[in-house]
Amino acid sequence: MYQKQIEQLIVLQQVDDEILILRDEIEQAPLELAGLEAQMGKFDDRRDQINEKLEILKEQQKKLTFEIDEDAGKIKKSKNKLMMVGNTKEYHAMMREMDSLEKLNRMRDDEQEAVKEELVRQDDATVSLTEEMSGVKEQYDALKTTLDERLAKATKKLESLGRKRRKACKAVPPPILGRYEFIRERMENPVIVPVSQGVCDGCHIMIPPQSYNDLQKGQQILSCPNCQRLIYWKAHIEPEPVVEEKPKKKAKAKPKAKAKAKTKAKAKAKPKAKPKAKAAAEKE
Ligand SMILES: [Zn+2]
Repeated sequence: MYQKQIEQLIVLQQVDDEILILRDEIEQAPLELAGLEAQMGKFDDRRDQINEKLEILKEQQKKLTFEIDEDAGKIKKSKNKLMMVGNTKEYHAMMREMDSLEKLNRMRDDEQEAVKEELVRQDDATVSLTEEMSGVKEQYDALKTTLDERLAKATKKLESLGRKRRKACKAVPPPILGRYEFIRERMENPVIVPVSQGVCDGCHIMIPPQSYNDLQKGQQILSCPNCQRLIYWKAHIEPEPVVEEKPKKKAKAKPKAKAKAKTKAKAKAKPKAKPKAKAAAEKE
């Protein structure tokens, strides 16, 4: 009775472990996608900035071209007029004006050169940004197509685990199931843990000798006095590994009776527990 209850609780625990992992996956997957989405949003911002800069630069280029042409026209006109000037004073004044216009246009040429260089830089930035974006977009698309599949698969698995869980719950007596659920709601997974060599596997603290004795008797489902998790003696479920190897080696050489008798108590526990848990797991 006790042994069966413990076994069923362990099955329940295994189902709950799987459920937790799946839920985590279902929660995490969309976050991954959202991360890539945010990255793409940043790319869009950067592209907007570049485009804005490009527009300003092109506007500047247009304005400079216009001003250069305009002043070049003025210079040409002045040159033509120069021939018809009557006195030297007027002549010098016109020469000075032409000089300053030419100087201005040389400065504009320099400026235009700088604008051209900046345009090339911004174009390069666009190219590398586009490359970067397509890489992330690819990643995003791949994740998005597999995400739906992954989620559907996980959800389906979760449903089947839910069925398995209900089945396992039915096999556990209500008061014990109540304790299990009570702990599960209040504590971090797992709910039921083995105790080996007097140490609780949930909190890694030694349980009092009296409790350990009671646990080994295997009559009543106990809780760890420290972490409150349900506990069972590990040897009730799995035999100690040392014991497991001995009969194998001796089985052929020595008469079987002795080895058998020695491990009978512990070996008995094992085949009972393991195939049960396994069979339940494979049914789904
Ligand atoms: Zn504990």
